[in-house]
Amino acid sequence: MSPQLSFAAIFMSDVFEKIVSLSKRRGFVFQSSEIYGGLSATYDYGPLGVELKRNIRERWWQAMVYRHDNVVGIDAAILMHPTVWKASGHVDAFNDPLIDDKQSKMRYRADQLIENHIRRLHKKGRDERAEAVHTRFVAAMNADDMPKALHDIIISEEIHAPDSGAFDWTDVRQFNLMFDTLVGPVTEAENRIYLRPETAQGIFVNFHNVRESARQQVPFGIAQTGKAFRNEIVARQFIFRMREFEQMEMQYFVKPGTQLEAFEAWRAERMQWHIDNGIRPEKLRWHQHDKLAHYADAAFDVEYEFPFGWQELEGIHSRTDFDLDAHQEFSGKNLQYFDPQTQERYIPYVVETSVGLDRTVLMTLCEAYREEEVRGETRTVLRFHPKLAPYKVAVFPLVKKGEMPEIGHAIEADLQRHFNVFFDQKGAIGRRYRRMDEIGTPFCVTVDGDTLEDGTVTVRERDSMAQVRVAKESLSTYILDKLNQTAIAA
Ligand code: ATP
Repeated sequence: MSPQLSFAAIFMSDVFEKIVSLSKRRGFVFQSSEIYGGLSATYDYGPLGVELKRNIRERWWQAMVYRHDNVVGIDAAILMHPTVWKASGHVDAFNDPLIDDKQSKMRYRADQLIENHIRRLHKKGRDERAEAVHTRFVAAMNADDMPKALHDIIISEEIHAPDSGAFDWTDVRQFNLMFDTLVGPVTEAENRIYLRPETAQGIFVNFHNVRESARQQVPFGIAQTGKAFRNEIVARQFIFRMREFEQMEMQYFVKPGTQLEAFEAWRAERMQWHIDNGIRPEKLRWHQHDKLAHYADAAFDVEYEFPFGWQELEGIHSRTDFDLDAHQEFSGKNLQYFDPQTQERYIPYVVETSVGLDRTVLMTLCEAYREEEVRGETRTVLRFHPKLAPYKVAVFPLVKKGEMPEIGHAIEADLQRHFNVFFDQKGAIGRRYRRMDEIGTPFCVTVDGDTLEDGTVTVRERDSMAQVRVAKESLSTYILDKLNQTAIAA
């Protein structure tokens, strides 16, 4: 362990390791192809992870599509015509600046090495120096010869390799992040296509199809969730940076000149969405881009404080007419919009919200993870927002004999009409509660001796651990009501 790591950093990395291990043990996330030694930066979701991910995706869809009359969804193919990626700029410019440590042969993103260096300077209280490097960094990112400018900073700041500690760098080179493959039986270059590195382009190329079929007028949005693929070089930190991941994106088409208003409105809405999912506001912040893409006129990221530091979660970008304009040029098809009110023709501007689903899953796990002292023992609990929890309710017959299991199964069947329910009749009741706490189940229902007498059951709440008695018949209404109360305990 590096001697300069602070106590807080050690504690946080310890917590992160526990989250990763719980994810595997309880069936949230597994390494892909684990029995073959695993495939790096690729993960599979287990029985609980798939539920958590579905719930997050579903809440995003509700917030973006169902709550806006003028936002509709699509599900475009992962494989697209290769010219799409020429037009979007991905063939020529979807690169990361990379640098290799000659001694360890480890590869790093040059921009991230410098950003981490700036952060370290701030931490050490050397703010003035940090600001100076930051100014140089912004200039380097905008320089014509960006790789050389970044390399110069790494050398003059004497930034050492994080893993080996060596100071023996190669030049900085640009590396394209798109995966390619060949389509059909012929292995010729013109048959080369790409796995999409973002879902957005499937939306742009369908602009007219969607607008006409859904009878939408500008301003309107198109939303989509789906897989994207990037040949990430520095793929670390579990599901934070993967080579195959899922995005939830929405492109909002507006009249030129109104984009910044729409940008601010979506910015506010997107931040609120995370808070509504139970993320503490103090763990979220805005980061304004230092380097705007040449076509963008505003760009902010939502960042979350992961156990390994503040990192990007979602990007909100005002992309002007760059994408539609480029597709119009490359396809030769008219992508202008005719405004029936003003009789004007124009290429709409676009405000985009783009969030990683897997990163949101990771944030949700990190945010929910707690270790609490209860009567001298440590309980591990995932305090998920109830709407995101994989199971909403667990049903426990207190003992595995007599009428209790049968009553329990009848309750389970009744609740299953509304929720994902877990049934467990094995082991001591306290242990059953703990197992449910550990996977974030908000309610446990126990069928006990009193149930046989008066038809009530014990409902135990995950966060407060309070227990109340509720009549069997009113259980589903009781739990539905509770789930609809969005406020959750801190
Ligand atoms: P980063 O700077 O972290 O590489 P980016 O700025 O390239 O991200 P965008 O292209 O704006 O990311 O993608 C939008 C969102 O998609 C990101 O905010 C992130 O949540 C998610 N995302 C991007 N790349 C990955 C990845 N390799 N693994 C998981 N999620 C990703």
